[in-house]
Amino acid sequence: MKYKRVLIKLSGEALAGEDKFGVNPDVTLKTAKQIKEIRANGVDVAIVVGGGNFFRGRTGGSIDRATADYMGMLATVMNALALQDSLLSIGCEAKVMTAIEIRDMAEGYSRRKALDYLKEGKVVIFGGGTGSPFFSTDTTAALRAAEMDAEVILMAKAIDAVYSADPKLDPSAVRYEHLTYMDIVEKDLKVMDLTAATLCKDNSIKLYVFALAEEGGLMKVINGENIGTLVE
Ligand code: UDP
Repeated sequence: MKYKRVLIKLSGEALAGEDKFGVNPDVTLKTAKQIKEIRANGVDVAIVVGGGNFFRGRTGGSIDRATADYMGMLATVMNALALQDSLLSIGCEAKVMTAIEIRDMAEGYSRRKALDYLKEGKVVIFGGGTGSPFFSTDTTAALRAAEMDAEVILMAKAIDAVYSADPKLDPSAVRYEHLTYMDIVEKDLKVMDLTAATLCKDNSIKLYVFALAEEGGLMKVINGENIGTLVE
């Protein structure tokens, strides 16, 4: 195993699959199966889910930005609950912890408790982002990866790697296998926002970008196969 403890970042877009909006239960189930496979190989798994498949703060129009961001955070909780159920349905122990307490639905976030759950072999899903508006779930991923002492953020995307441009729109787009966090800044690559990139760089957390749709992709990454882009 290349990694012992990972933080998986699942974007809302990836969870919507072909549907483009909302949660696609086939996608959450397939994702859950991939997660169960790496858990069975002894890898500690923490997950941060996005919410863009339901709502993003910056597209809230006339809604106040902070309010819109809270709506976005609620969207991430819906994704977290869906993924938790898919994991439980295949016998993989999972716990949702939310940054903002929603007591009847999930547990409030506590670093100590989350670390205990990981040690017990449970998959921990972090919903509600950082709990603060004006941040992203990429930043949440960097923050929770640092807190959980994860070696790498495995960023499961709708695309298989980082490119210099959108390969669907620009056939000359370059596919990168290896980048530094400085490259992301200098080349203005849309991998993660700068707040998240800075947090990762400062805490020596690696980032691996790969496609969620790739068959057994997660296991391949854990085995050290080169199927995406490594940023360090
Ligand atoms: N969000 C927030 N604070 C956080 C994390 C997320 O306000 O710490 C809000 C923000 O409005 C964001 C939305 O939640 O647009 C959904 O998260 P994101 O856009 O990162 O999801 P993704 O693009 O990964 O699906």
